[in-house]
Amino acid sequence: MDPIAANKDQKQHTLKQDTYEKTSYFPAFFDTFTLLILHLSQNKDIIILGIESSCDDTSAAVIKNGEILSNSITSQLIHEKYGGVVPELASRAHQQNIIPVVSSALKQANIQTDQLSAVSFTRGPGLLGSLLVGASFAKSMALSLEIPLIEVNHMMAHVLAHFIQKPAENRDTPSFPFICLTVSGGHTQLVLVRDHLKMEVIGETIDDAAGEAFDKSAKILGLSYPGGPLIDKFAKTGNSDRFKFSHPSVQGYNYSFSGLKTQFLYFIQKETQRDHEFVSKNLPDICASWQQHIIKVLLSKLKKAAKDRKINTIAIAGGVSANSGLRSELQQMSIKEGWTIFIPEFEYCTDNAAMIAMASHFKYLEGDFATLSTVPKARMPIESLS
Ligand code: ADP
Ligand code: MG
Repeated sequence: MDPIAANKDQKQHTLKQDTYEKTSYFPAFFDTFTLLILHLSQNKDIIILGIESSCDDTSAAVIKNGEILSNSITSQLIHEKYGGVVPELASRAHQQNIIPVVSSALKQANIQTDQLSAVSFTRGPGLLGSLLVGASFAKSMALSLEIPLIEVNHMMAHVLAHFIQKPAENRDTPSFPFICLTVSGGHTQLVLVRDHLKMEVIGETIDDAAGEAFDKSAKILGLSYPGGPLIDKFAKTGNSDRFKFSHPSVQGYNYSFSGLKTQFLYFIQKETQRDHEFVSKNLPDICASWQQHIIKVLLSKLKKAAKDRKINTIAIAGGVSANSGLRSELQQMSIKEGWTIFIPEFEYCTDNAAMIAMASHFKYLEGDFATLSTVPKARMPIESLS
């Protein structure tokens, strides 16, 4: 290249870099607190777009003054044929889904991008490639609209799903402190919730999650992924007392599902050696007995924690909280124990952006904003503030 042209090219490049550096400290982030005070003092609506992309669901939701206006979700069916989530395929699918999902959430809410007060995203925990798609998209929107960016902890958001209200809805919400059993495909946690944004994990699985126990045992039975809802479906017509399994012994409020899964595998192997049609002949009873066993394990620790901590406001959250057996067992236990219980609507059990938007509303009110250098985290404790 001609040296004069090369020099000009270099200068333009430096200029572009400069502009980028400057815009990356864009004013909205610089004085978000001032903006917030201004915003609240002008009595303006707080409208936030929330984005969730931590695993295999791409979702976007709009919340206005604490009320959910839309919650658009696209699940990725591609993983079904692999019997589990394939991280690389998940992030590619998020890239394809994110624009249509965000557009649909805004359209359903009847909100234009220039009305947004902030954009929020799931920072973690989750699959890094998947998280990156939501985080990059949210950052680009915040940057171009010059509005604050809010990062959300996915596990905290599952708990905060209990505070979701639709317009004109007047649902009861849990009073503090309460204990939430969060059970999903990747986590099993007993969370002591002191306030909207003050939570402490008091017990958790030391290996597999409860959702994983459902999904992996469903795979052993030859059922498709995700197997949790299928076990739930077959269990409805089965006898839960037919087969017995032993309890894992784990200290304190912690759980372990890895040994349970092996116990189930050996049980099925042993029975099919005797009768190779064992599974097809007994599917409802196997599912009902196995589901009942997982529920007993989950609820025994919850009961212990509630008793020790003298807390009688109890909630469940996460994908496994959609399980009909768990929901009804919890209801029965609440009558015996004198608990006030909170069970989320089905729509807000599995991954969804409404819970991300809800969490970000509370963070917005506290002026808790992220910056463009906030990176996604595969592991992210609920207690972490940064
Ligand atoms: P993650 O955040 O870990 O991706 P989700 O909160 O989306 O997980 O929950 C997905 C998990 O919930 C899967 O393991 C799935 O099998 C389980 N699940 C969903 N519905 C049910 C149900 N009815 N019974 C049992 N498990 C269920
Ligand atoms: Mg989840």
